[in-house]
Amino acid sequence: MKSAEDIVKEKEKDFIVITADTTIFKALQLMVQNKTGAILVEEKDDIIGIWTERDLMRNILSDGFDPKTARVGDHMVAGKLKAPHTDTVDNLISRLRKINHRYLLIEKEGRYIGLLSPEDINKSDLLEKTKDYERLFEHVGSGVFISTKEGKFIDANPALLDMLGYTSKEEFLKIDIKKDLYLRPDDRRTFQEMIERDGQVIDYEVDFKRADGKVISILLTGHVRYDQNGNVIGYEGLNVDQSQRKKMEKEIMEAHDFLNNIINRSPNAIIAADMKGKIILWNRAAEETLKYSAKEVIGQMNIVKIYPEGVAQKIMQMMRSPEYGGVGKLNAYHLVTVQRDGGILEGNLSAAIIYNEKGEEIVSVGIYVDLKERLEMERRLRQTQEQLLQSEKLAAMGRLTSQIAHELNNPIYGIMNTLELMKTEIPPENKRRKILEMALSETVRLGEMLSKMLSFSKPDQEERRTTDINIILDEILLLHEKQLREHSIQISTSFATDVSNVYASRNQLRQVFLNMISNARDAMPEGGTLTVKTSTEKDNVKIEISDTGTGIKDEYKDKIFDTFFTTKDTVKGVGLGLSVCYGFIKDNEGDIAVDSKVGTGTTFTITLPLGKESATDS
Ligand code: ADP
Repeated sequence: MKSAEDIVKEKEKDFIVITADTTIFKALQLMVQNKTGAILVEEKDDIIGIWTERDLMRNILSDGFDPKTARVGDHMVAGKLKAPHTDTVDNLISRLRKINHRYLLIEKEGRYIGLLSPEDINKSDLLEKTKDYERLFEHVGSGVFISTKEGKFIDANPALLDMLGYTSKEEFLKIDIKKDLYLRPDDRRTFQEMIERDGQVIDYEVDFKRADGKVISILLTGHVRYDQNGNVIGYEGLNVDQSQRKKMEKEIMEAHDFLNNIINRSPNAIIAADMKGKIILWNRAAEETLKYSAKEVIGQMNIVKIYPEGVAQKIMQMMRSPEYGGVGKLNAYHLVTVQRDGGILEGNLSAAIIYNEKGEEIVSVGIYVDLKERLEMERRLRQTQEQLLQSEKLAAMGRLTSQIAHELNNPIYGIMNTLELMKTEIPPENKRRKILEMALSETVRLGEMLSKMLSFSKPDQEERRTTDINIILDEILLLHEKQLREHSIQISTSFATDVSNVYASRNQLRQVFLNMISNARDAMPEGGTLTVKTSTEKDNVKIEISDTGTGIKDEYKDKIFDTFFTTKDTVKGVGLGLSVCYGFIKDNEGDIAVDSKVGTGTTFTITLPLGKESATDS
């Protein structure tokens, strides 16, 4: 901003100093000669006041006033109306306003360098401002225009020419605004209607054609220019190039869409909530995993509701603590929760708090990885491993059993022979004979057990042949009919016709069926019905052996095929039967399943392949 000294220099006029004794007439002459309205009055080398035209007017009107004799010193305004040379225009104006006087003496280093009137100051200020506006017009980044109502530009700044691709202003002032500038000439009419109706238009969006024909998107703001009579003569205003903004908007939209896509296509549930728990983001995977639609939760439901009670608070605590991946983070927290429909969800939650620039918490975001399938797979794998371990254990047990059986076989038969021999020496009526026979029958039982143990351990030693299942079952039932009848057990059979070509070991099958029938008999101490049924299903034959006995308790169902598992007393069973059966059936590439209900009965179903010679035998 200009200083008092600058304005003094602009004036380029020395001020006139006269002594206080000078007559008013003389002073007037000097004023006219120098074309000035004010004179400084000096006494003994010191400025004591200012005498101005205004003082003269006052004096002329007083009676008996004679300019030729009146001394300037008697009629001037005394006092030094000083201002430092560094004063700015604003300072000078306010100083003048305060003292209500028409002149200021500008002082620099103890000397007076000039005299300034309000007109001097205002003129200089106006000049300055005009220059400022000119500079602004030339350098402002937006396009500034003045145009006529008829559609020609009167003036335009360089920014507007640049924006519209014109190099010469002359050429630009010639164009027809409606035809050459507006992409859609009708838009100019709309603009005129609006601006003439309201006196102004703010941010009117319009497309212009550049000199090279390219389209540019403009934001137009302007107001009306009137002549003295209030008639519209044209418009002036600003054109702001919007292309950059539109491009950025597009880029932001694209970035937004891109992020949205990532979030929505994520296979994991992504959820965000504000610090009050109001849900603000809920992606598609979240919809599928938790079974709530985005529509019904965003802005509607509190995040607390998707967690079991107290868990949401716990998660927030963990995120704020440094221990679970750093403050503001939570890494893979195992979370079991409930879906909307009551289904159980099991998975890992990773979450983070988002902070604003002041470091305040604003949003929490969580990613939930549903692990149900993976955990299910792991569980199945574990089961298979356990089964494998079990069969390894069984195999080891088999080897051990076979060794023991072998070792015991000979001595047992030795004892049996010895006991038989002793029988011939003790007559039947002898008291000891009974004890001997008991010993002998126990030894026989021991022998039988040993042979079971042997067949358990060497199931594959049997020769296989094409076998008719019905015939084997018939034989066994015939043999046991009497015994079963004694136990009040009725037999019911239903045989399919075409089960004659099962390739299997007959001996093994006999043992299996026999064992099943014995078990059925044991399960029906009060009598009942034994049903034996054969049927075919695809390439298999199905043999069902059912009883109406006690049934098997649920907790035993997994164990009955285990070696040495028995619920019977030690005399009746040793728990080898079913494990041997299982071995035999598996050996013949079949399967065995049990279905049982306590108090109702049990059905064993054996499946064997039809008409197939196993690779091991061919
Ligand atoms: P054991 O007959 O020597 O006990 P098994 O291996 O043949 O040995 O049978 C194991 C167990 O399975 C039996 O002790 C019994 O508890 C149960 N079980 C087998 N078959 C039946 C059946 N038909 N009804 C009820 N329980 C049965």
